[in-house]
Amino acid sequence: MIVVLLGPPGAGKGTQGERIAAALGVPKIATGDVLRAAVKDGTTLGLEAKGFMDRGDLVPDAVILGIMKEALALPAQANGVILDGVVRTVPQAEGLARVTQELGRKVDVVLVFDIAGELLVERLSGRTTCDKEQKPFTGFERGGPCPNNCGGVLVRRQDDEPDAILHRLRVYEAQTAPVLAWYVAHGANVAHIDATGSFADVTVRALATVGR
Ligand code: AMP
Repeated sequence: MIVVLLGPPGAGKGTQGERIAAALGVPKIATGDVLRAAVKDGTTLGLEAKGFMDRGDLVPDAVILGIMKEALALPAQANGVILDGVVRTVPQAEGLARVTQELGRKVDVVLVFDIAGELLVERLSGRTTCDKEQKPFTGFERGGPCPNNCGGVLVRRQDDEPDAILHRLRVYEAQTAPVLAWYVAHGANVAHIDATGSFADVTVRALATVGR
């Protein structure tokens, strides 16, 4: 099953994506994670992406389509994959449709996380990220140790600074919100969930959309 997670930054796609992936026994790909790892390793991809990411702008479509194509061709994705934040523009949605068709597959569910803008600002500005594992946490102080005891320190992502958050939300409205209309117009199986409330409640709603 190929599941596309759509929703603004801070809607909980990452956390819920991991839970859906575990329930279905398939991997999750997050282009944000792939890009952050590339930035950390100082690869060509990372050097190309860093400026866009720090400002909260989208990385060019051609870069994302390359990552998408490579990732979907991996044997590990044969039984399905959860795509977290991978489709953020209409050209990316078109590109994913082409890639899946070439592989004889299709997007099975587009899962949309519905949540109000004010809540997102609150969530993202309170979020810390482990500088070693790049995992996000809520409810922990910056500068403290990673709660997973991996030896990392909790920092604030450059794009979780207040100005960058507001910019990312504007980018979402301008460039990613039209992706939903594109999927609806192309007859995709679109499911909306209420992304407010506890992580556990949202997980129940998310899993119901994939038949779990
Ligand atoms: P995320 O971790 O999903 O919030 O992504 C962090 C940043 O990575 C975004 O603000 C973009 O700069 C970049 N990024 C991740 N996925 C994409 C994508 N599909 N298209 C363009 N940029 C992306």
